[in-house]
Amino acid sequence: MSMVCTGCGVPLQMEREGEKGYITGDAFMREFPLCQRCYRIKHYGEITPVSVTEQDYRATVMRALERPAVVLYAVDLFDFNGSVVRGLQGLLNQHKVIVAANKFDLFPKRTNPDRVRGWLWREARRHEIEPAEIFVVSAQTGFGIDGLYERLIREARDKPVIVVGMANVGKSSMLNRILHLSDPDEGQLYTTSPFPGTTLGSVAFKIGKTGMTVIDTPGLLGTHRLQDRVCGSSLKQILPKQPLRPRGYQLQPGQSLFLGGLARLDFVSGDPQSFVIYAANQLLVHRTKLENADELYARQRGQLLTPPCSACDESLQQMTTKKMGFKSGRPVDIVIPGLGWIRLSGSAVDLRLHTPVRIEAAVRPALI
Ligand code: GDP
Repeated sequence: MSMVCTGCGVPLQMEREGEKGYITGDAFMREFPLCQRCYRIKHYGEITPVSVTEQDYRATVMRALERPAVVLYAVDLFDFNGSVVRGLQGLLNQHKVIVAANKFDLFPKRTNPDRVRGWLWREARRHEIEPAEIFVVSAQTGFGIDGLYERLIREARDKPVIVVGMANVGKSSMLNRILHLSDPDEGQLYTTSPFPGTTLGSVAFKIGKTGMTVIDTPGLLGTHRLQDRVCGSSLKQILPKQPLRPRGYQLQPGQSLFLGGLARLDFVSGDPQSFVIYAANQLLVHRTKLENADELYARQRGQLLTPPCSACDESLQQMTTKKMGFKSGRPVDIVIPGLGWIRLSGSAVDLRLHTPVRIEAAVRPALI
């Protein structure tokens, strides 16, 4: 029989750091072994991310949501579409849901958070999420975390807070901010305990002075998002680190834009108009003639047109094409989950979007 973590109850393993149950050889020899994630909570009051694939995820979250709870639903503002956990809506109906939309620091400096919040309310409803409240926050700068924390304390007097979200939305970073607010001296106030009835990777801990119980579930990975398909070094190319600098291109029909080698937008017909790219500032955007684009891609993928690189999932080099036609109307964003979005001005236009297979581009009302 395999050994399990005495904190969260998952089988221990020494091969895959970042996945549930990871433990080092030394820690494994202890009398009451704790996986790395539980060890760090117990001794340092620090939450580290852990991720799982879909089947495990559903089982874990379903189990966690069996009793009354406040749900803290963490989403990434840079990738709202990629942050919506599919199939979760039905499970959330019975509970009070608080959405924390993280990474606001990535938005251009003058962005109004109230406007973003209004947009989030509309988008949440469109995705059948019915939150009690939405907070726009940044775990990096601390923006908005106080308000979120106070609300959680009020709501969670008699119920645990269950934290759910896709991998990489910043769930652990947000929880660490909350832990820090609850105990600025960072004493050893946190304890982990197996969450009753769970052997699937939820970690429950008490936030000392507040009496609040928080249950952290693993982050879900998804093949429809680029961040879960690129290698570590390409991830650095597509994850924004600084506030986004919108890059505007005034294009004529018959021109194409490449976003690295991960997306290509062809302007097929329409009046000349502007396309604004919101993507990591370090990501290459290359303009070319549509008639040359196939040949350029064949010659330059993995070279000029990178990421992806040779260490990334090979399927990222198999592109699919989607025709997109827009009548004149309000501005919209074409979203490429994990890469960013392209804002269209609202003029009539016919486009073709090329993205790697299984990456699901979406169209939404313009966010900015
Ligand atoms: P988790 O998988 O949801 O627990 O996410 P993490 O907390 O591990 O964060 C994932 C990545 O997003 C890391 O590279 C973090 O540094 C980054 N990150 C987290 N919060 C923020 C934020 O507020 N702003 C920015 N710019 N990056 C963040």
